[in-house]
Amino acid sequence: MDVEIVTLPCGPLETNAYLLVADGRALLIDAPPDSLLPVLDELDRRRARLERIVITHTHWDHIVDAAKLRRETGAPIIAHPEAVPRLEQPRSLLTPLPFEIEPAPPDELVRDGDTIDFPPLRFRVIHTPGHTPEQISLYEPERRWLFGGDTLFPGGYGRVDLPGSSMEDTLRTLRRLLELPDDAVVFPGHGPTTTIGRERGWIEQLVGQRR
Ligand SMILES: [Zn+2]
Repeated sequence: MDVEIVTLPCGPLETNAYLLVADGRALLIDAPPDSLLPVLDELDRRRARLERIVITHTHWDHIVDAAKLRRETGAPIIAHPEAVPRLEQPRSLLTPLPFEIEPAPPDELVRDGDTIDFPPLRFRVIHTPGHTPEQISLYEPERRWLFGGDTLFPGGYGRVDLPGSSMEDTLRTLRRLLELPDDAVVFPGHGPTTTIGRERGWIEQLVGQRR
């Protein structure tokens, strides 16, 4: 069965919302500012029903439209347990924002090793802390797709100079991602895709691990 990946860069930081569509059903990964209308539009166009909203991590640029999307579609919000406080009381960690972020407490919690079924896909949840403590990535082993939030970008990793971020955790997380195959495609929270193979060199150097 074909699965369509619709990438919607939204909001001031062009955060990627990923809408996966298969057989009239859809799953959304992250809910950036101004993603509500584009997501509803894409769903409409495909006559698809949104089944789930997965939040990779709770930085405002990934969650601002989560509550609105849930209200409009009835889809539950799914996140890691450590995301709960920030989804209940969202705020910007640095400069104050010129708008309020609506709380979006999750309906379901997922932990490392859990699966999220979206037939024909079956995602494995990988807890990938570092950029934030609660960050999760979704990995689909058959297709070799990794939706990693701000875990890994072409040539770099999510910033670790924010409150709650940790370089030590980032190194552990990156070491874990080295276990994925070279042709695994990485869909990051911002910008274009890459593959584990393309990033393996600098990651191995960074974590000081050679094969
Ligand atoms: Zn982030």
